[in-house]
Amino acid sequence: LAPEEIEHSRLARIHDPRRLRHLKEIHRARVGDRFTLGVEGGGIGHGELMSLSDREACFSLGALDAPPPPPLPVHLILALPRPRMLARSLEHLTALGVKQVTLLHTQRVEKSYWQSPELAPEKILAHLVLGLEQARDTVMPTVTLAKGFRPFVEEQLPALIEGRRGLLAHPGMARACPRGINEPTLLLVGPEGGFIPFEVERLLEAGCEGIHLGPRILRVETAVTALLARLF
Ligand code: SAM
Repeated sequence: LAPEEIEHSRLARIHDPRRLRHLKEIHRARVGDRFTLGVEGGGIGHGELMSLSDREACFSLGALDAPPPPPLPVHLILALPRPRMLARSLEHLTALGVKQVTLLHTQRVEKSYWQSPELAPEKILAHLVLGLEQARDTVMPTVTLAKGFRPFVEEQLPALIEGRRGLLAHPGMARACPRGINEPTLLLVGPEGGFIPFEVERLLEAGCEGIHLGPRILRVETAVTALLARLF
């Protein structure tokens, strides 16, 4: 729920057609059903569905006292994957607790991906919300775009890596991905074709440690999930 959807009377009204469809088609919601609800950036609690039509769902809210689960202190720098994979990666990384994401252009990212409708803010938001709902989280991640590799490395990376451990996921690196981190971390994941040697060199020079996930080469969304699950 967005905070503005809640009235003083502890009634919450939803008008967003996508969420109304989700309630009807996925949850098969009926008046009287009880749901776990979260307020964006706030608590989680229970609510009862009071009415449901094609234009509005109205819930009466109980106390919202459970806090959202703790975030994963990882800023993920993800080379922009193909649109279908982007959607799933956003959902998974959000469910795993990432709160900062940068989508990066690299040599092997297809230029056409930057024109994809999946990059529209409302599409990105929809995938983030699915991840939050799945994990019973309420704190929305921020997603930024870095459309040039050189400007990213020269202008943004020095400030991002300051005070964080930089991990560059690349097959064949000497060190295995660490397990269970609790320090602020920057994690870089490459595109379908991987980082090119020049990019690996620049990222290592900028202070990143190269890490691997073993001998299996994983597709981007699997690698993102496996890496975050190790760091979790
Ligand atoms: N042929 C590419 C290569 O060798 O780099 C494969 C790229 S893989 C499909 C996409 C991204 O997932 C990689 O750039 C890397 O960031 C991550 N990845 C996949 N498997 C990995 C592994 N075994 N170790 C480390 N990173 C991996």
